[in-house]
Amino acid sequence: MLRSINPYTQKEIYHTEEFTSAQVEEAINKADHTFGSWKTLSFSERSKLMLAAARELKKNKKEYAETITAEMGKPIRQSVAEVEKCAWVCEYYAEKAEKHLADKIIHTEAEESYVSYEPIGVVLAVMPWNYPFWQVFRFAAPALMAGNVGVLKHASNVMKSAANIEKVFIRAGFPEGCFTNLPIGSDKVENIIKNRKVKAVTLTGSKPAGGAVASAAGREIKKSVLELGGSNALVVFDDCDIDKTVKTCIQARYQNTGQSCIAGKRLLLHRPIADAFTEKFLHAVRELKSGDPMDEETYIGTMAREDLAGELEDQLNKSVAQGAAILIGGKREKAYFEPTVVGAVTPEMSIFKEETFGPVIGITVFETEEEAVALVNRSEFGLGVSLFTQDFHRAKKLVPQFDDGAVFINELVKSDPRLPFGGTKISGYGRELSMDGIQEFVNKKTVYFH
Ligand code: NAP
Repeated sequence: MLRSINPYTQKEIYHTEEFTSAQVEEAINKADHTFGSWKTLSFSERSKLMLAAARELKKNKKEYAETITAEMGKPIRQSVAEVEKCAWVCEYYAEKAEKHLADKIIHTEAEESYVSYEPIGVVLAVMPWNYPFWQVFRFAAPALMAGNVGVLKHASNVMKSAANIEKVFIRAGFPEGCFTNLPIGSDKVENIIKNRKVKAVTLTGSKPAGGAVASAAGREIKKSVLELGGSNALVVFDDCDIDKTVKTCIQARYQNTGQSCIAGKRLLLHRPIADAFTEKFLHAVRELKSGDPMDEETYIGTMAREDLAGELEDQLNKSVAQGAAILIGGKREKAYFEPTVVGAVTPEMSIFKEETFGPVIGITVFETEEEAVALVNRSEFGLGVSLFTQDFHRAKKLVPQFDDGAVFINELVKSDPRLPFGGTKISGYGRELSMDGIQEFVNKKTVYFH
């Protein structure tokens, strides 16, 4: 049985029986059968359905958002915004898929030579709970528009949202089998990857899960895309606009109660402004409103599960034992974790080295640009980095020195359907969104007429 426990009330709000292996196989057979006809539809036929999915999301955003909040504790306004963003990605690919997948003419001595981008079939998506709708839609919208069909293994604690996502596609009029939710635990994933009808897999989640899924896919010689954890740095130089930067850094760290792969987890402050910035930052953290995630005014909800809050507490305690100083917060009550700021953080400490998946930020002070770059790159993760400076030339000069998949200047790292998204190092490989995302799960077929 898979159960969703509301982390705020601790009450069970949903449960569902797991699919048996036979039911999983049946669902994959149906998906593969649907693929046969789905891939023959024109882009405009698929677009009509994808736009209907966007309308459905907008129309019933409250219903979907309330389930997200109840299942994983995200403040309700942020859940509504998440559902709206899913409508955006549907609209984006409804409009752009045809252009992104248009034949690419390459002039050779042939009469005609080009690359065509063809769908591959059933793609498995293994997804996390932190953005229960967005993570899935940013996979599903491009995959389905490319002519593939999707099967979803969602995180065990958000199975009602998973069922809702399938409902969105059904309500929008997609053929049965185009997008299928498989209520299963992670032990069934390897067998799904082995199924000959499943052609590729994408996983968003932790390194251990990514390693397990990519190994299974590798053994079967199937393509995988991995979107894993991050420990983004927020690098604040002495010439930044301090007030604006404080606001942006607060959002970068504390939105979604800190449970975002691209959250700014390491705050790197240039010595000349370190004290003044810290003071304003602490003031802003004090103003963050914690409370009932269903309350419109709440900005900090609970973490998604009590055990995850416990893990964060361990990381914090270890870092304090290593010499870090709690400047504000630091306490937890069941799944609720106070917004926390930690000073005197060094690269050897847990909260610098590991991913902190909750509302805790560590401050490290640097003296020079070189030192800042070295601190950023010292992380094993490589999702993204934010620089805050008014010196455009400095920023331009520094961009190539970072290992990360994204560098944002005077802005938090965020995902946007128009821009490719993905990491380097142990943050994973492959890209989602934009043209790069829709081209991950296609057969790039070389065609040559002589
Ligand atoms: P997780 O424990 O890795 O779970 C992610 C998904 O993988 C879940 O569906 C989980 O199923 C499944 N899974 C776990 N172990 C597996 C295994 N051995 N084989 C197959 N599937 C397995 O991660 P999470 O706690 O849900 O999410 C937090 C992590 O996701 C963080 O590290 C975060 O940074 C990362 N993340 C990355 C991105 C990105 O775009 N780069 C975005 C969001 C989150 P069960 O729930 O049934 O265990």
